[in-house]
Amino acid sequence: MTKAWSILPDEWKDILVAQGLRAFRADQILHALYRDWIDDWDQATTLPKDLRERLKVEFPLTRAEVRAVSRAADGTEKLLVGFEDGEAVETVLIPATGRFTQCISTQVGCAMGCVFCASGAQGVVRSLAADEIVAQYLLGRRRGDITNLVVMGMGEPFMNYDATLRALKLINAGKGPNLGARHITLSTCGVVPGFAKLAAEGIQFELSVSLHAPNDALRSELMPVNRRWPLDELLRACADYTRQTKRIITFEYTLIKGVNDSRACAEELARQVRRVPMAKVNLIPLSPVDHRPDLKTPDEQTLLMFLDVLMKAKVQTMLRRSRGKDAAAACGQLRLRSRAQDGRQAAFPPQKMV
Ligand code: SAH
Repeated sequence: MTKAWSILPDEWKDILVAQGLRAFRADQILHALYRDWIDDWDQATTLPKDLRERLKVEFPLTRAEVRAVSRAADGTEKLLVGFEDGEAVETVLIPATGRFTQCISTQVGCAMGCVFCASGAQGVVRSLAADEIVAQYLLGRRRGDITNLVVMGMGEPFMNYDATLRALKLINAGKGPNLGARHITLSTCGVVPGFAKLAAEGIQFELSVSLHAPNDALRSELMPVNRRWPLDELLRACADYTRQTKRIITFEYTLIKGVNDSRACAEELARQVRRVPMAKVNLIPLSPVDHRPDLKTPDEQTLLMFLDVLMKAKVQTMLRRSRGKDAAAACGQLRLRSRAQDGRQAAFPPQKMV
């Protein structure tokens, strides 16, 4: 038994033949999956009934359901997506002029423990399988034409490398959903072995690296991953990646009041970032999280000062504005607030059920 949404379009023929089925069925199956967007084999009416019955058993469609939807005033929607074992993750849909971005999760919870991030506040429960990652995207695209996909939800993609890459390759495949590689962005907190692996894939996905501090002392305090792979090692991996792939790396820097938002931090950040050819910086004001009320968003003046220092140092920098705050869909807020007694059904207070 193999989940249909974990099979890459190019693999279908061989897999069918190995099961004693006819190779020409592959195109019909792919058409049903990724042109008709079926979510039940019975909807694949071009296929004979006995074949549909076999597909149900041997290549089941992953059952994933939208358990709740919360919608922010800015149009951002957060979906709680539940899986067959009762676990759930969150995916966020972010409309903007000319684009419709989906943010997807790769793990239930997160093991990395960045202090400012709610996803890691309760550790990791499990990694998602490739088909579960694809299922999130498929549920998203039912609600609109997704133009951009960012792997910035719950979890650390490089701690679930194989399933994440398989899912992204499937979503990118021409005979699959066919979303362009340059419209797909992976974000890592700095799990160094992932960089060389990704470079070797030869696919033009975009890569973001969560930096958040310009030196080891501060970074290790904010992000435990830095103790395992300190800045020198991380920046060397980033430089190697850009040289090998000729692709830009985007550094994410979440600004936290009085912690990493000083002029000295900005100056040190500029020096560090210049070690990596073709790097740019996204500054993101912290989205406050429930479990660390002491961490605050810097005031506007500080944000602009920080931006100014980087710009003057000729570092390509953007100051991002967080979206979806009132739906708890902003960066770092993705987390199941609590769970009901049976430990399975997530208790999620939706602002609006759809
Ligand atoms: N594990 C991956 C992807 C998930 S987090 C990574 O760390 O990159 C996506 C981005 O949101 C990361 O840059 C993360 O550091 C940032 N983030 C987490 N909590 C945040 C918060 N409270 N406010 C602003 N950004 C946050």
